Amino acid sequence: MNEIQMESWRAAEREHAWHPYAGVPPHIANIPIVGARGMTLQLADGRMLIDGMSSWWAVIHGYNHPVLNAAIQDQLNRASHVMFGGITHPAAAELVERLVEITPAPLQTVFLADSGSVSVEVALKMAIQYWYARGKPGKQRFIALRRGYHGDTSGAMSVSDPENGMHSLFADSLLKQWHAEAPQTTFHGNFDGGDLESMAALLEQFHDRIAGVIVEPIVQGAGGMRFYHPGYLKGLHELCERWDVLLIADEIATNFGRTGRLFACEHAGIAPDIMCLGKALTGGYMTLAAAVTTEEVSHTISNADPGVFMHGPTFMANPLACAAAIASIRVLLDSPWEDNIAAISRGLEAGLRPYADVSGVRDIRVLGAIGVIEMEQPVDIAAVNHAYIDQGVWLRPFNKLIYTMPAFIATEKDIRRITQAMCDTVKAAVAYRG
Ligand code: PMP
Repeated sequence: MNEIQMESWRAAEREHAWHPYAGVPPHIANIPIVGARGMTLQLADGRMLIDGMSSWWAVIHGYNHPVLNAAIQDQLNRASHVMFGGITHPAAAELVERLVEITPAPLQTVFLADSGSVSVEVALKMAIQYWYARGKPGKQRFIALRRGYHGDTSGAMSVSDPENGMHSLFADSLLKQWHAEAPQTTFHGNFDGGDLESMAALLEQFHDRIAGVIVEPIVQGAGGMRFYHPGYLKGLHELCERWDVLLIADEIATNFGRTGRLFACEHAGIAPDIMCLGKALTGGYMTLAAAVTTEEVSHTISNADPGVFMHGPTFMANPLACAAAIASIRVLLDSPWEDNIAAISRGLEAGLRPYADVSGVRDIRVLGAIGVIEMEQPVDIAAVNHAYIDQGVWLRPFNKLIYTMPAFIATEKDIRRITQAMCDTVKAAVAYRG
């Protein structure tokens, strides 16, 4: 592409494309990427950036991976898509079998959906339909956590943090749910049972109307990159059993090793009633998600009127996405992923920890392959974008958070460059809006 073609391509895009959480035209220019391989993104002008974001938690093996490429090519030559209603195919069969094998033992039935948000909608509907089948049609609402985030569709928004999610803007259109206080004990802290009080009180008062509790296990992502104590999840699991409500674990961001365990629920040794998977499910190659549940839920729904689960997306179980997911899981489990993530963790600690006491920094935290600098003030994203590009790194701070969740193939040197860029943001005056 020559420079004139590039300029016209970019102008058309600026004018007509709506980017995530952005205006039209965008207030901050988007960076044109024309290629991606391993840890690097290639800019249109030929420069290379080390990717610290793994395309929003998804690209865990790096870009353009030969095994994933080959698996998709192979599937492409067989069937790129067939409807899943009344038809099935080997890639779906292999994937659901694999997911049942690697998720906690009670989870036995897989509903494949087309995005994380849709899998959350599916999980919410599953919970409602389960209680309906059990003769309790009054259980239709949910308890979620403040600072939680579960996606951008209506049901998912209704269980996300009401303030972060700007619910006031959609006040009349969102379902009314309850939000318990977010857990305060940090992952490495001493668990304070008082963290569960607000949740326990809501369950005690409203359990007759509650179909489920939905949480992001261990890591509250978009709501603040907060790492909370496994004791909270353990206690919540007990409370859900006690008050007869389903526990839905939204593992969409945490799944497939990100926190150092294959699934974040494993930190607490609990199995939820429904687990939502997404993002890294296909190694970040294409959109696919899943709501995985117990036979208690799937058989109860199937054995009562109307005898079917009322959901079925057009691209459900897309064969290309299933092939990518099977290959991604194989690549992950065949690799020394726990060692790789532990090494990334050590690199993030070494690079970030020295900045813990620097003025303007509120907190530094690392868990698995996630590193976070929380600032006192919001970061000026437009200003830091340029600084990162000049340093050859791609990071996308959000509000007061400068964070990274790199691919698991990141080397020590990659992590050094990423953490250096993060820390330079702290040092530079551009880090402060006020
Ligand atoms: N749940 C969590 C925890 C997420 O991080 C996200 C994605 N940001 C979603 C749900 C929604 O997933 P998707 O963007 O694929 O709809």
